[in-house]
Order: sequence, then C-alpha cells, then structure tokens
Amino acid sequence: MSRPLTIALSKGRILEQTLPLLAAAGIEPAEDPQSSRRLVLPTNRDDVEIVIVRASDVPTYVQYGAAAVGIAGKDVLVEHGGEGLYEPLDLGIARCRLMLAGPAEPPPVPPRRPRVATKYVRSTRRYFAGQGRQVEIIKLYGSMELAPLVGLSDWIVDLVDTGGTLRANGLAPYETIADITSRLIVNKAAMKTRHGPIRALVDALRDAVDARAA
Ligand code: AMP
Repeated sequence: MSRPLTIALSKGRILEQTLPLLAAAGIEPAEDPQSSRRLVLPTNRDDVEIVIVRASDVPTYVQYGAAAVGIAGKDVLVEHGGEGLYEPLDLGIARCRLMLAGPAEPPPVPPRRPRVATKYVRSTRRYFAGQGRQVEIIKLYGSMELAPLVGLSDWIVDLVDTGGTLRANGLAPYETIADITSRLIVNKAAMKTRHGPIRALVDALRDAVDARAA
C-alpha cells in the first residue's frame, strides 16, 4: 500500500473543533490526541495518519510535504506567507478576531510613535503600513497582554475571542485587523500527485462543514 495521507494538526481549540469534522468525514484517531503524548497517531483508516505539531509549524510541515494536508488558523497562515500551499476550504472553526488593543484607560496624550507588542509581526506591519501610521513593532512569542502592563509597549495585537483576557488585564479592544477562522491547507505538489485521496478528503470535510452550518 502507498504511504498514508498525513494530516498536520495542533493541540488546543483548533483540534477540539476539528475532531468532530474529521469524524463526520469518517476519520477517527486511534487515541485522544489532546491527551496522548504520541506525535504520530494512526486513525481508524489505514490510509490516513495524524501528526501533532505546534500551531505555527503546521504550514511549514505542509509546505515541505511532510504532511500532505493540515489545519491552521488564518492568523498563522498570514504570518507564514502561504508559500507552497493551497487553502481550499474555510472550516469556519476557532472563530476569533485579530485585534489592536491597549489600556482600557489610555493616557490623555497618545504616543507619537506607539510601540506595539505582538506575535503577528507581518499582519501588524501590513495593517499599519496600509494606514500610513508609524509604529514600532516588538516581537513577542506569547502573553502579549502583559506588555502594556509593564511598560514594554503601548498597544498589543492579539487574537480576541470573548474579550475576557483583555478585560482581566485592564485592556480593551481598539480596532479589528482581521476576522480569523481555521483553514484546510494542502501541499501544492501533493494536490497533483495524490489528487484522488486529497480531493476525497476536501469534499468530505466540505460536506461536514456544510452539514454543521445547515
Ligand atoms: P478571550 O479571552 O476569549 O478573548 O481569548 C483570548 C485569548 O485566547 C488570547 O490569549 C488569544 O491568543 C487566545 N485565542 C483566542 N481565540 C483563539 C483562537 N481561535 N486560536 C488560538 N488562540 C486563541
């Protein structure tokens, strides 16, 4: 038999919301990926396996064909750049917004060249460049909400779902930069060389997404 089709997923809320869609498409991991320490998980299908990687690494695994397909947030895809990838399906899951946020009570005089802390450097640069606004971007890898509290930055750019994390830290949403959902991504070469199984997976997931929306 040819090697299995590998699907790259990341733990957390994307995985939580992806598993029901995969199940509806007839794919069930042999173990619970949220609790398993295994990074390669067989499924009920001999021709499909799942690999668990860090969210921001999903596009890289798929770009290089180590996984033929993957599921990643649009936030991560914009930062990656999308090279070598098709994005055939919006799964409509892990819905949130990429937002500019800052102190709920901003200083009376706004900073002349605000410092913006974010993991999303590319999206942030593009957003402010598009508006002709001058900012200094500070790259962080997590806990962006802390930066304005300790004077590292004036503002942050981060994902916001309920707004609870911002509120808990005395911050407020200012502007929406992008609406975010998770997308199915496919390696461009694999889309040609393994067209049949990939097409079948895309169609089955599309049906699962449509059935959920109906
Ligand atoms: P919330 O408090 O509900 O607004 O959620 C905000 C926190 O959850 C922030 O730390 C975000 O980085 C994270 N977050 C929100 N939505 C998502 C998502 N769809 N994927 C990954 N992280 C998210």
